[in-house]
Amino acid sequence: MHDVIVIGGGPAGSTAAALLARRGFKVVLFERDKFPRFQIGESLLPYNNDVFRRLGIFDTLCETFFPKYGGTFVTADGSAKTVFRFDRNLTPPYQRAFQVKRADFDLLLLDHARASGAEVHEQKQVTKVDVADPARAVVTTADGVAHEARFVIDAAGHGTFLGQKIGGKSDVEELKRVAVFSHYKNVLREEGREGGNTVIVVLRDAWFWLIPLSDELMSVGLVLDREHFLKCGLEPLELLERTIAQTPYVAERMTNSERVMDVKVRRDFSYRMKSVAGENFVMAGDAAGFLDPIFSTGVMLAMKSAERAADAVAEKLERGSMKLLRRYERESQVSIDRYFQFIANFYRREFLEVFLSPDPPRLFFFPIIRVLGGDVLSSWLDRMRLALFFRLVALQKRWAFSPRIAWDALPPPASV
Ligand SMILES: Cc1cc2nc3c(=O)[nH]c(=O)nc-3n(C[C@H](O)[C@H](O)[C@H](O)COP(=O)(O)OP(=O)(O)OC[C@H]3O[C@@H](n4cnc5c(N)ncnc54)[C@H](O)[C@@H]3O)c2cc1C
Repeated sequence: MHDVIVIGGGPAGSTAAALLARRGFKVVLFERDKFPRFQIGESLLPYNNDVFRRLGIFDTLCETFFPKYGGTFVTADGSAKTVFRFDRNLTPPYQRAFQVKRADFDLLLLDHARASGAEVHEQKQVTKVDVADPARAVVTTADGVAHEARFVIDAAGHGTFLGQKIGGKSDVEELKRVAVFSHYKNVLREEGREGGNTVIVVLRDAWFWLIPLSDELMSVGLVLDREHFLKCGLEPLELLERTIAQTPYVAERMTNSERVMDVKVRRDFSYRMKSVAGENFVMAGDAAGFLDPIFSTGVMLAMKSAERAADAVAEKLERGSMKLLRRYERESQVSIDRYFQFIANFYRREFLEVFLSPDPPRLFFFPIIRVLGGDVLSSWLDRMRLALFFRLVALQKRWAFSPRIAWDALPPPASV
């Protein structure tokens, strides 16, 4: 009997496996694929650094991955723009983040879990989990072998292995979207540190990400409504390239670009769970819920949730206490709710007008950067300021104290 079985070797699974193995638990991790493998989710957030430091890999990441010092939000014609700089607005441990090729990043984390003492099996898909007996979990792999453990962690990502069956998974209706993306060479970027920023380009009811992965490579993705995607009459490659061509800010930067990867599509990626923990199981990372990628929160939430889940599992196995698991369950909902407020608002004109205003009120700017940097369970003072910020957004609709965006002049995604 193992102590813990972890399903999935992405950032959440590797983090949980490494932390529990280091505490002396007998951990086995089953990963369906063979690493390195492609994954989307390439722009990381500064508050992820807490977990990197606890794992002891922060310096290795600094040597290996492209530095990100901030984020830029800009309208499709370049007329309204806000730049968030971590060094101006966050304390030293959070003044840089990373842009990563996920194949390399996830391999580094999985190897780190192995080196920390977890038994890792790649190309071993889990096909069944039985958690009916609270004293043990039985996990069956594709080869038909049943494995027993005192606890199971579902970190299987958007496949939401346990969530489908016992988590009460539900899609988020307001966020039914599709992402179409690829990697390009020769995309122009800003000079100096700003050149490492993730750039979000706002269209009408859609947006682009531009994420620099190295000096040469840029990840470019378009996120749009599912309805538009289904009805536009264009194949994904055509949709992506035509929308690039009709978005001045992106087109100018991509005049001489060259695509170096197939175009990929991800759809219906926003969902929540009613319940993410029980006596002998817990869900972490995307397996516990995921919202729209607009603020690059996925990997940070995956790793922070895995860290908190690992501590809660350790407490349960060592002392039989459910206290941390219950807290984990509560905090998972709080994190998702807090980001949901930003994400749902991002698609509203009045939010963007305040968010992209040339002189945003400082009182709100700092807590926004902290939350969007990944400090999701922020102080009560920040929470009060954010409540005021959202009040201001509501008033903007009527009073327009931030400059209006020429919404109807913004290009929509392409169609035939
Ligand atoms: C379009 C899009 C853009 C995004 N952009 C960003 C971004 O810029 N920044 C960011 O931080 N996040 C981003 N994300 C989110 C990010 O991709 C995820 O939040 C992150 O990968 C979650 O990590 P995870 O470990 O929970 O899951 P995953 O990375 O999905 O890892 C899960 C692992 O489980 C394995 N697995 C699945 N089923 C089984 C099984 N049955 N048995 C065994 N193994 C299994 C899979 O092979 C996989 O390796 C984006 C998401 C989308 C959809």
